[in-house]
Amino acid sequence: MRRLAAFRVAAALAWLVGASFVAGTAVADVHAAPHPIPAGAAPAAVETFEPSAAKLAAVSSVDRHAAELTQLSDRIWAYAEIALREHKSAAALADFAEKKGFRVQRGVAGMPTAFVATYGQGRPVIGVMGEYDALPGLSQQAVAEKKPLAAGAGGHGCGHNLFGAGSLGAAIAIKEQIAAGKLKGTVVFFGTPAEEDVGGKIYMARDGFFDGVDAVLAWHPEDYTQADLTSSQAMVDIAVEFHGKAAHAAYDPWNARSAVDALELFTHGLNLMREHVRPTSRMHYTIAAGGDVPNVVAEYAKVWLWLRDWQRSEVEDLLVRVRKLAEGAAVMTETTGTVTVQTGSWEMLVNEPGARLLYANLLWIGPAAYTEQEQAFARQIQRSTGVPEVGMFAGVRPLEGQKAEGGSTDVADVSWVAPTLHVSIATSPQGAPWHAWPVVASGGMSIGHKGMVRAAKVLAATMVDLYEQPAALAAVKADFKAKKGEVVYKPYVPDGPPPLPKD
Ligand SMILES: [Zn+2]
Repeated sequence: MRRLAAFRVAAALAWLVGASFVAGTAVADVHAAPHPIPAGAAPAAVETFEPSAAKLAAVSSVDRHAAELTQLSDRIWAYAEIALREHKSAAALADFAEKKGFRVQRGVAGMPTAFVATYGQGRPVIGVMGEYDALPGLSQQAVAEKKPLAAGAGGHGCGHNLFGAGSLGAAIAIKEQIAAGKLKGTVVFFGTPAEEDVGGKIYMARDGFFDGVDAVLAWHPEDYTQADLTSSQAMVDIAVEFHGKAAHAAYDPWNARSAVDALELFTHGLNLMREHVRPTSRMHYTIAAGGDVPNVVAEYAKVWLWLRDWQRSEVEDLLVRVRKLAEGAAVMTETTGTVTVQTGSWEMLVNEPGARLLYANLLWIGPAAYTEQEQAFARQIQRSTGVPEVGMFAGVRPLEGQKAEGGSTDVADVSWVAPTLHVSIATSPQGAPWHAWPVVASGGMSIGHKGMVRAAKVLAATMVDLYEQPAALAAVKADFKAKKGEVVYKPYVPDGPPPLPKD
């Protein structure tokens, strides 16, 4: 998940099939926190099925392309390009799609690294999303100890190299079935950049790229495997800025009005407010500007703040209160204050019939088979990061959801525009830190590759269901329609392209 997200933590409950699990990270209290996301996701009876010819063919297509997909993933892993700079990574995926017969539209929604690859015609239109941005400073070799590849460089600490290549593998598997006349309709691969930063999907959703898509799928690398019934946190990313007047801090301080004073009053107010917000709310900030030297009274100060909750309405309420805090701080210090919403994402609209399809296909495809060397690699990472040495999670968690994890994703914005199905696939050792070197290490070797291939198969098999079973697609769409209700999606991002890096 992206910078907006900063999560993907080990889960605290032993919802396992076929593997042992030991809970225990510092975030267990977060998991236990109550939150008001929809109830009613009782474990469902999942029907077993006889796979259709198209499903068998789609899954064997993934196997046939596994070596190429692995190579593609490893290239993106090695590029390790961060948000909106992922030029080589986006080109690698787009070129690969084009080579496989997709029509590719590059540089969409004002982002040079966003693209859409389409094959086929008519309905249904089934999409699958891929990500490929890395995280700064996480460079790491594919070894079981902390060892940067190039100190200070980026690294795939969220496994997006696997996410992009695996999703494209699923799209290609479907394309081949359409080409062979086994499936009818259109398949779309969405190349979605900057998940860890501005949230490329938000801009693509804003600009209508998901309009008219019957259903769209995504997966995410994880330390467990499960069809997701869990929502995500809505969030807003805001800049709170204060402008005062500079003067010599000793010679004529009476001529000055300090922006840093305003900043301090603002953050003090925010921290007192913590006691009077819902337990589900999260408020975290950094001081982005706080003056330069002590002997110049600061005329400018800036707080970079994120507000989150499981419900967008709570986030909106927090935003109103934060505006008052900024106003009050400015009044007290005779400065001026501004609050600017920079970006934000909605909470995920969970699709239950879609999760059931994913779950049934997860069970059909079966558990991951790790070698003893892979399990030893995982245990070594666990040992060196101080988490229980339980190795990889190979099984499938039951279809249960609604546990409270913290984090936000731009996938959630898409979920308000088109029915969105989401699955988590194990690519990293259980409990080991996320957005950290263990994810980079395992995403660049066979553990990650196996997760990517498994993800491609589950996505492809579920997409086949949506093409072949009109009733299943209708249920997915009806669930979306019922949950969305009368709400009109309105993204938090302003008009125009996101701020692009200048160099
Ligand atoms: Zn991620």
